[in-house]
Amino acid sequence: MEKVLSDKSLDELRHSLAGTVILPADAEYNTARRGFNALVNRRPAVIARCVGADDVAVAFDFARAHQLEVAVRGGGHNPAGHCVCDGGLVIDLSRMRRVEVDAEARIARSDGGATWLDFDSATQAFRLVTPGGVVGSTGVVGLSLGGGIGHLTAQHGLTCDNIIGAELVTPDGSVIRASADENADLLWGLRGAGGNFGVVTRLEFRLHPLERVVGGRLLYSGAGVREALLRFRDVIARSPRNLSCQVSLAIDGSLVPNLEIVPCYTGPDADPEELQALRSAPGLVEDSVHAHTFLEQQRVIDTSYGENRHYWKGHFVREIPDELLDELLRRIVALGRPPGGIMIESLHGAPKDADAPPGAVGFRHAAFNVSILSVWQDSVLDAEQIGWARESALAVEPWSFSGGGYVNYMQADEPLERVRATFGAEAFDRLQRLKQQYDPHNILRRNQNIPPL
Ligand SMILES: Cc1cc2nc3c(=O)[nH]c(=O)nc-3n(C[C@H](O)[C@H](O)[C@H](O)COP(=O)(O)OP(=O)(O)OC[C@H]3O[C@@H](n4cnc5c(N)ncnc54)[C@H](O)[C@@H]3O)c2cc1C
Repeated sequence: MEKVLSDKSLDELRHSLAGTVILPADAEYNTARRGFNALVNRRPAVIARCVGADDVAVAFDFARAHQLEVAVRGGGHNPAGHCVCDGGLVIDLSRMRRVEVDAEARIARSDGGATWLDFDSATQAFRLVTPGGVVGSTGVVGLSLGGGIGHLTAQHGLTCDNIIGAELVTPDGSVIRASADENADLLWGLRGAGGNFGVVTRLEFRLHPLERVVGGRLLYSGAGVREALLRFRDVIARSPRNLSCQVSLAIDGSLVPNLEIVPCYTGPDADPEELQALRSAPGLVEDSVHAHTFLEQQRVIDTSYGENRHYWKGHFVREIPDELLDELLRRIVALGRPPGGIMIESLHGAPKDADAPPGAVGFRHAAFNVSILSVWQDSVLDAEQIGWARESALAVEPWSFSGGGYVNYMQADEPLERVRATFGAEAFDRLQRLKQQYDPHNILRRNQNIPPL
């Protein structure tokens, strides 16, 4: 439903905003409202493309004055489509992409709308890095606030473990900071609980030196897939700190299962023992693993934007015993057509550090994140594809770590209990108090929501 806003009020918004206002009649509108997931097709009344914290405060004021629902857009990748709302106002940060690097202090400061490609390009110019996401067009802030799992998780922890400070605009228009010395409780909440407390206009990260990685992809097909999956599990069981790894199970056009392993090794060896073990598994049909730059590694998993319909659902699991592994192989065959698949991300290594910075994130002690990714194009298949994802996630549930899922991958239909289970009752209670303090009217509710107490 399109809300009718008077020309006068829109003119006032245009004058108050240093950035731009995009309306349904504008040529840019359809591109500006498009998100990663084509299943979500919403029409906001107005898109406020902000260029700084003052603009964000102006946008909040306008939404309040006109009783508009608010959505916040960073990189536009959230599979639930939270970055866009029907008839409301989108606070669009896509022009706020600056990333400053203080190489000496090993700190990066990212604007609220920067992508990982922006971030990694800036930090890698100094051969520095923070562990981020695996797709360059994903938003830095959106990903970090939900936890953050990627190519350097085993080495340097979750992305949110590396957040050291933030600047936010809260829904009442105040600009506040969070760090170890200032609003430390808010910093704790920002490490995992998403965009519930304010629009983050700046996020500061700790950086780590990184010269090059050994990475790429290993593809297995057919009968060897089970053994390759076992090999992956057993290599990870040794918890190699200098090897992060994620895998995707899929089927090809002939419905033959295949497995893609994407390792990222940062140790001193040219041909480490763990990679030898993976390479020697049966069924290997493609091997592109070699030494390259981290920016090249960040292009290994690339994906189209806004073209496919997506429905994702999953569980953090305590372990992957043979029964679960066989269940996953059955589920991938049951999918019945490509694309889509089952992604397994390992959480070994640094996320488990006892001295990890305190944060709301509740999954660091799980072994793996198992995500069912249903991907299709034809809307006729909606029910079938969504059904497959739900049934498959149900099949994984007996091994679930906490009953919760990964807020970064959740769809909008997850019940409150599951969001609560993701954090655990105690942390959720603390998050609700924080929400009450910073967003008592739940203006920021288009997210994996934490309702105020
Ligand atoms: C192709 C793809 C690859 C991905 N890869 C990874 C990965 O490697 N690791 C991983 O952990 N996750 C990954 N994700 C999940 C991703 O981290 C989340 O979906 C995240 O929410 C995306 O952030 P965004 O800014 O791009 O999305 P948006 O849809 O723009 O934002 C999602 C939500 O994040 C919040 N948000 C975003 N920016 C701000 C801000 N500046 N201030 C306050 N709130 C904000 C808002 O609630 C917003 O609605 C991936 C998703 C996709 C589609």
